[in-house]
Amino acid sequence: MAITKKEYDFVIIGSGLGGLACAYILASEGHSVIVLEKNHQIGGNLQVFSREKCIFDTGVHYIGSLDEGENLNQFFKYFGLMKKLKLKRMDEDGFDVIRFKDGKEFKHAQGYENFIATLTKQFPEEKNAIVSYCNAIKETCQQFPVYNLEIPNSSHVNNIALLSMNAYEHIAAITSNKLLQNVLAGTNGLYAGEKESTPWYVHALIMNSYLTGAYRLKDGGSQIAIHMSKSIKALGAEIYKRKEVVGANFKENGEIQEVILKSGEVVKGKKFISNVHPAITIDIFGENRFLKAYTKRIKGLKDTSSSFIVHLVFKENTFNYLNYNIYQVNIDDVWGTVNYNPKEWPQSYFVCTPANSKNETFAESMSVMTYMDSKETDQWADTHNTIANKNNRGADYEAFKKEKEEKVITVLEEQFPDIRLKIKSIYSTTPLTFRDYIGDKTGALYGIAKDNRNPLKTSINSRTKIKNLSLTGQNIVLHGVLGVTIGAFVTCFEFVDKHQLINKVKNS
Ligand SMILES: Cc1cc2nc3c(=O)[nH]c(=O)nc-3n(C[C@H](O)[C@H](O)[C@H](O)COP(=O)(O)OP(=O)(O)OC[C@H]3O[C@@H](n4cnc5c(N)ncnc54)[C@H](O)[C@@H]3O)c2cc1C
Repeated sequence: MAITKKEYDFVIIGSGLGGLACAYILASEGHSVIVLEKNHQIGGNLQVFSREKCIFDTGVHYIGSLDEGENLNQFFKYFGLMKKLKLKRMDEDGFDVIRFKDGKEFKHAQGYENFIATLTKQFPEEKNAIVSYCNAIKETCQQFPVYNLEIPNSSHVNNIALLSMNAYEHIAAITSNKLLQNVLAGTNGLYAGEKESTPWYVHALIMNSYLTGAYRLKDGGSQIAIHMSKSIKALGAEIYKRKEVVGANFKENGEIQEVILKSGEVVKGKKFISNVHPAITIDIFGENRFLKAYTKRIKGLKDTSSSFIVHLVFKENTFNYLNYNIYQVNIDDVWGTVNYNPKEWPQSYFVCTPANSKNETFAESMSVMTYMDSKETDQWADTHNTIANKNNRGADYEAFKKEKEEKVITVLEEQFPDIRLKIKSIYSTTPLTFRDYIGDKTGALYGIAKDNRNPLKTSINSRTKIKNLSLTGQNIVLHGVLGVTIGAFVTCFEFVDKHQLINKVKNS
């Protein structure tokens, strides 16, 4: 579809949740908005794909803070989503199960009291530590105003010192019981946790969100993007797919005049918001437009690990639906899983059976996610393959995938001995799949890795040196559906009265 020649108030590059949330906020405030997406499907990591009538999520398996009164529930009410989403509340008494090599299982239950009571049964002598851990999480969350639907002052965090606290160390200071430490941090795959560098606040904000309402999205997370895009269009904004932004033309004062698309079309705007990884954003607009020190810092930042995901389609009615996720850890220290030993791979994995509205008893499918360093697929790095830009990476790549799939299914059999008999077909995605669909450099799970040793270095401001270019998305505040939503508000505070905006969310 051809784009009109008008000058938009806001041109948003990328239709990930961050781009869509900004589009909704700004269009609601009466601005003219256009969203440009390079893929054939909107949503970024909210995209789904289907195989043999099974819908698979690519990048969102469950979301938290959705119980009545919780922050994401309120944000989703503001976006008009809460009544539209098909949700499945996960097991009250164990939505996440941490499972170790010896088969021992520990459950994370929903609600703080339930969480404490459930874990105390297995760690009776550690009750005080578990209570202290929960209190520490709640106290930390209090320091993030937008997370609590409060109006921030200058920063999105009240107590900057919090950013320097290390997650592993903080948990170790609460309890010296190694097993309990592992259980409390057992879901660190949610943020690709690293022992030396993952900040405590990342752990706390994410744990709190799941403890206050963990839900799956029935029939896939793309429903968030689909409903949002309908509402955004109803507000008069435009969204275009297969429109990759590759460059820009500038005014004499250094501001962006228009973005250039791969097709050669141009789109004029007063202000521009990039939902694309900051390092790629620099490439799009040109290194010479940013301070050298900024470019060096952003391009030098480490991304979170990438992943290999095996997607299984089950024979009909053979595998029971699991209303919980399993975090399997086959090494002694949960913090060692991300820097796995390639010879022992996979040393940890995450299992989820997607919820679907057709059958609540049996699972149609299963996704098994494990870490994979993007270096493992380096030999095919020159190949690019998406639906919008189809290519074949070759037989050796397919053989690599088959070998890895086999390894994952072999370790899975230790937990589900007869699983192989139930599998109808197997699909998988590699770091390259994520790189190509999301448009970053490494297929990172969650964008730039936060580092408590140098928090300012890994903090990305939504403003840039180019006066009319802002950033949004998972690198601004935090990744994940909740983190990206908060990040979109932080980006939009620059353009919309933050008091009024937060009040609108509160009163939704
Ligand atoms: C495997 C995996 C599992 C996850 N599981 C969960 C989970 O269970 N729960 C949860 O809350 N979060 C989860 N996350 C994290 C969450 O999905 C992301 O943090 C979030 O969706 C990122 O949103 P974003 O706004 O940063 O945009 P992204 O999703 O990164 O999207 C960016 C968009 O920009 C587009 N784009 C890029 N370059 C261009 C260009 N040049 N021109 C036009 N468009 C462009 C891309 O195509 C893409 O659509 C998971 C992530 C992954 C990868």
